[in-house]
Amino acid sequence: MRTAYIDCRLFDGTDGCGVDEHATIIVEDATIAEVRRGPDALPDAAEIDEVFDAQGAFVMPGMINAHAHHFGFGKPSKSLSGGFVQKALLAFAHSPAGAAYLRAVGTKALAAALYSGVTTERGVGDFCYTDVQLRDRINQGALDGPRFLVSGPAITCPNGHGAGTFAEIAVAPEEFEALVDERAAHHVDFIKITVTGGVMDSNVKGEAGVVRMTEEQTRAACDRAAEHGLYVASHTEGPEGVKVDLDGGVYTVEHGSPVDAKTLAQFKSAGAADICTIAVAYPLSVLPTSQTKLLEAGQYNAALVRDRIAQAARQCREAGIPVGIGSDAACPYVTHYDLWRDVLLFSSFVGASPADALRTVTLGNARIIHAETVTGSIEAGKDADFIVLGHGADPLSDLRDLRRVETVVARGRRFERCPEKLEPLRQKDVDAVLDELYTPEKIEPLCEESAARFADVLDQAKTEA
Ligand SMILES: [Zn+2]
Repeated sequence: MRTAYIDCRLFDGTDGCGVDEHATIIVEDATIAEVRRGPDALPDAAEIDEVFDAQGAFVMPGMINAHAHHFGFGKPSKSLSGGFVQKALLAFAHSPAGAAYLRAVGTKALAAALYSGVTTERGVGDFCYTDVQLRDRINQGALDGPRFLVSGPAITCPNGHGAGTFAEIAVAPEEFEALVDERAAHHVDFIKITVTGGVMDSNVKGEAGVVRMTEEQTRAACDRAAEHGLYVASHTEGPEGVKVDLDGGVYTVEHGSPVDAKTLAQFKSAGAADICTIAVAYPLSVLPTSQTKLLEAGQYNAALVRDRIAQAARQCREAGIPVGIGSDAACPYVTHYDLWRDVLLFSSFVGASPADALRTVTLGNARIIHAETVTGSIEAGKDADFIVLGHGADPLSDLRDLRRVETVVARGRRFERCPEKLEPLRQKDVDAVLDELYTPEKIEPLCEESAARFADVLDQAKTEA
């Protein structure tokens, strides 16, 4: 089956790409057979079986969400913050009814991601290997969803981030190795650990992102993962944690934090990458605590972590270290169908042009997660993963236009904008709150504050380097 997508306003996602008017993408089954530009872009009728006329709409690679969970929909909840509710939740998750419930939640979350233009997603921590089961069902064609790369349950130490929920606990190095072996036996795509605490873990100002795992534990997990041919992603929200990551052999530093010149040099020589996730901290940092249910210290920590994440991405980009974009969907106020919010925050806080932000959430992310030979750009030989926006939508002028996805092509299969499928997946109350926050008037002053907060740290690292 050969389909010609004609009259595309094509942003192909490759390095330095611009826009080609009236381009044609010829898709053969799941693969891009050819991309044609210029006066000869239109194919002969004899060459093709079907024509899809984009009528001049903006066409770009499918987005890649490098950091998401699938055990919730982004509604604020206290069930991950310990105590009785968490215990009850965990017992339920391990029961047959709980497993079925988690699969149903994950199925909906992945459908929401797909219909909103995400054609590849990384699942960075689940309960009981739910993500692994969902990935296999997608790959068997039994479930509609993006290409899905999964870690299974994360691994941490006692009191570590996610301990007892989406992370399992180890203490001795051999216990870390055993948990890595178990995940490899489940055919995960990578290993997730949580080296530092998170925003929701602490009620003490400034304590978010405190180091929990030791270098020895981190190294045990990374070395054993490497023996299985797997890399390690680590939840890390403070500068000391980034040091532990890099000393231990972590490949993707999730969230991140600005570091000194020595650690930055180490980051670069290790070939590690930073995954920027501002949207998980932004709403918690600005919404009233009466709404977020955080204590005052929690709000302070959310702002601190928001700015660490943003300035780490800025610092890494300046140093030539790969930086990706993830949303941390399933966390409070982060839904699966609005990755555009992360792209917008990335552009504003990190100082990336819209074109650069689009390339980061596509080919940039693909390179980091080792999927660049199959996805991330619209080039012959790659899988047909791209999106067609609504008429007049131009994310190069306004990144908020990324929410106007009309057609998603994922590994050659076409999914038309389908209100019956997408609308029930939307969290309308959450969206209403967020739409108020995602405006230039709200974001821009915070970007300046964020840069000012870490100006000294960034300057010092530069001078030392
Ligand atoms: Zn996460």
